[in-house]
Amino acid sequence: MSDGRAVLVTGASRGIGAAVAHAFASAGDRVAVHYGRSADRAEEVAASLPGEGHVVVGADLADAEAVRRMVDAAADGLGGLDVLVNNAGVFEAHPITETTYEEWQRAWQDTLSVNLVGAANVTWCAVQHMLPRGTGRIVNVSSRGAFRGEPTHPAYGASKAAIIAFGQSLARALGPHGIAVTAVAPGFTETDMAAEALAGAEGDRRRAESPLGRVATPEEVAAAVLFLASEDAAMASGSVLDINGASYLRM
Ligand code: NAP
Repeated sequence: MSDGRAVLVTGASRGIGAAVAHAFASAGDRVAVHYGRSADRAEEVAASLPGEGHVVVGADLADAEAVRRMVDAAADGLGGLDVLVNNAGVFEAHPITETTYEEWQRAWQDTLSVNLVGAANVTWCAVQHMLPRGTGRIVNVSSRGAFRGEPTHPAYGASKAAIIAFGQSLARALGPHGIAVTAVAPGFTETDMAAEALAGAEGDRRRAESPLGRVATPEEVAAAVLFLASEDAAMASGSVLDINGASYLRM
């Protein structure tokens, strides 16, 4: 029996990342469950995963040196790295008409340092472990907001558009090394991040945006990530898979 692949999932202490960790572990893979602040929750996720050989690794993604140590610890613990899922993210409101200039700058810094620069740094570190193997999969978790706009969270929208462009550049750069790079773009998904947006009448309105009359579950996003990370998905490199229940359509 195969030991499966070695998979690092950032932001796996809860929400979509925890579901992604479960999906890979259920497929027989070994998972590095990354957390930022929720060490206890990450330990619980890792303990709940089927199979063996999973590890827990922590780092604030805004700290480049902590990121390097975290990725190397994941590769050490798993015996290499085959798959990276850049999932960790923050969603900070800063409507342009209601923030001071100082608040505006802080929100851009906080958001981009995690959602974009943090993911880029995790990627650089992970790729060092993939290049010698001549194979790898990177899946970036973007958002419907990359296309539809995020009027109250503009840095978030920009970060999610940028991570698609980043991934597409890397799909071109890393294709010759056997590494495929893709993205998922979920609409609202039932997690802590979306809890406020999905509460009350506003939540009903948002569920009604989809002809399915609901938002995605973390497990539905995880299933898409699992597919994009599969051996069969090599030719999907550079693509973006929408998981929004036809709530927002684009060509
Ligand atoms: P969530 O429940 O809020 O979880 C966020 C995860 O990111 C946590 O594991 C958190 O770790 C980690 N994280 C946040 N800041 C971090 C930092 N500075 N350093 C390290 N880790 C950090 O969010 P989610 O809904 O599962 O979202 C996962 C991804 O899906 C995000 O990229 C998000 O933008 C995207 N997405 C979500 C939705 C939605 O509606 N939920 C829709 C579209 C896209 P700790 O708790 O350990 O700090």
